[in-house]
Amino acid sequence: GAAKPILATRALDVGYGNVLAVRRLTLQVNPGEIVALLGPNGAGKTSSLRGITGLVRPQAGTVSVNGVRIDNRGPAVAVQAGLAHVPEGRRVFPEMSVTDNLRLGAWSVRRRSKVVESRLADAYALFPRLAERRAQLAGSMSGGEQQMLAIARALMSDPKLLLIDELSLGLSPLVVDEILARLLELNKEGLSILLIEQFVHRAMDVSDRVYVLKKGHVAFSGTPAAAIRIGAVEEAYHL
Ligand code: ATP
Repeated sequence: GAAKPILATRALDVGYGNVLAVRRLTLQVNPGEIVALLGPNGAGKTSSLRGITGLVRPQAGTVSVNGVRIDNRGPAVAVQAGLAHVPEGRRVFPEMSVTDNLRLGAWSVRRRSKVVESRLADAYALFPRLAERRAQLAGSMSGGEQQMLAIARALMSDPKLLLIDELSLGLSPLVVDEILARLLELNKEGLSILLIEQFVHRAMDVSDRVYVLKKGHVAFSGTPAAAIRIGAVEEAYHL
C-alpha cells in the first residue's frame, strides 16, 4: 500500500533576513527509511533541518508529518508530531547531569512519570556508557558521550523520525561506528532517520536514499548507488 511519508516538505524556502539558505526544498522520508542530506559546507543542510523542525520559520513552502502540516507552528508542534532534532554541536546542557538532560528530552510527557522512567531505562539500555555516567555533568563528558546523550535525549520524546545534524563531527571513527550501530538497531525497530553526515561514504553505507544539496538547491536525489554511478556527490562538492 502507499503509506504516507513520515516527512514531506514542498518548495520550502529557509533563510535569515533576506538571505535564503535553502530554496524550494522538496524532500520526503518514508516510514522506516534512513535518508542522508549531503552537500558541501554552506549548501544549506543545517538550515533545511531548522526549517523542518521549526527552529527557523520557513519563508515559503510546507512541511507535513504523516500528512499533517506543521510549518509555522514552531518546534514544540514538530516534537509532538513525532520529529526529534539532534542539533549541530549537540547542545547538551553542560551544567546538568546526564539524567537531567534526558528528562528534559521528555518535556512533552513529563506529567506521566512512569513513561519517563521507562524511556530513561530504554536510553540507558541503548547506551550503557550513559548509564555508567548518569550523575555526571554532561559538560565533563567526551564528545562521543555527549553525542550519545544528545541522541538519547532526542529519543526521550519517542520520535517517529530522528533528524541528526553532523553526527560524526569531532568524533573518533570507533565512536561513530558505535553510534551508527545503535541507530541501525533503532531503524530496524521502525525509527526513520534523516541524517547530515560529513563523511559521505559512511552516510551512503547506511542510507536508503540521499539528497545532495548544492547552494541551497537539491542537485540530486536517489539511491546511494545511483549517486555514485553518476558522480552526483563529486559534482556537488567540487564544481
Ligand atoms: P555547514 O556544514 O557549513 O553547516 P550547511 O550545508 O549546513 O553547511 P547552513 O549551515 O544551512 O549550511 O548554511 C547555509 C547558508 O546559510 C550559509 O550561507 C550560511 O552562512 C547561512 N546561515 C546559516 N545560519 C545562519 C544564521 N544563523 N544567520 C545568517 N545566515 C546563516
